[in-house]
Amino acid sequence: MSLTLKIFATCFVCIHLPLIATIAYLSFDDEPRAKGILVLLTGATLLGTVCCLVILNLYLRPLRAMASALSAHQAGGPGWKGMHGGRRDEIGILSDAITSMTLEIGSTVRKLSQQALSDDLTGLGNRRWLTERLQEEIAKAARSGKPLSVVLLDLDNFKTINDRHGHDAGDGALTATGEVLKGSLRSFDIAARFGGEEFCLVLPETSLEEGWRIAERVRKALEDVRMEPLPRGGITASFGVCETSGEEQIHDIFKRADEALYAAKAAGRNRTIRARMPGSLPEEHCETNVED
Ligand code: GH3
Ligand code: MG
Ligand code: MG
Repeated sequence: MSLTLKIFATCFVCIHLPLIATIAYLSFDDEPRAKGILVLLTGATLLGTVCCLVILNLYLRPLRAMASALSAHQAGGPGWKGMHGGRRDEIGILSDAITSMTLEIGSTVRKLSQQALSDDLTGLGNRRWLTERLQEEIAKAARSGKPLSVVLLDLDNFKTINDRHGHDAGDGALTATGEVLKGSLRSFDIAARFGGEEFCLVLPETSLEEGWRIAERVRKALEDVRMEPLPRGGITASFGVCETSGEEQIHDIFKRADEALYAAKAAGRNRTIRARMPGSLPEEHCETNVED
């Protein structure tokens, strides 16, 4: 039965309760008294009012439950699941509409947050995503006391690839780099496109030496990429690797890795350089490792 009809029926009966009581009283009592009728009318009016209030309150209870479930859903609590019992009245219709709306909003939010954290071209995470993940890995490293390595890599002379072979070839080189990174890393390593032709790797439980070996493996895999119209060895990158203990700020980690990357560029590109350890002088601790 529709809620409108239920409310109408309830109000109708409750409003007419004094009239019904009076008719009943007059038909059963042969000598009705004015005082008796007055008491009856007062009692029936009060009873009708209370009944109306209680019944309407019961009808509206599901709406209050919906309002608080929606507030909890909005505050990030349990997801909205709709009303139980397959109601077919206005409340059921409203509940179904809210359910489909919340499902749609949920899937749009998931899609948008995925887009906000990933790079379309390579399918890797983006800088924002990596920064969040790095923050988690730094916290893990701080708890476990194990080292964590971060690698920054930048494609060499990428502008020349674009200029000589076109923007599509440049995009192809970026996609191929993404594939190499996905294929060369361990399952728990993290790779992201940092922006432009720059990428970043986060290597949990990895020392500087091990990080350097992994970076070198990626560097050689990139050299081996064959992608028309580029010649073999047409895609190369320079790498800066740094180890952090978990006590360091993200900004300082990137700064050290970037310094090492810059040193790799300055030393002739297509090479991996280990960053200085925090607090040490760059000149003393930068090491060049060139594969001829
Ligand atoms: P270096 O070896 O010093 O890094 O030189 P580079 O040419 O790689 O660096 P530079 O900063 O001079 O040029 C980077 C170029 O990357 C410029 C920019 O147009 C190009 N680029 C950035 N993002 C994209 C992209 O998504 N697709 C393509 N095709 N090119 C891009
Ligand atoms: Mg570059
Ligand atoms: Mg660059």
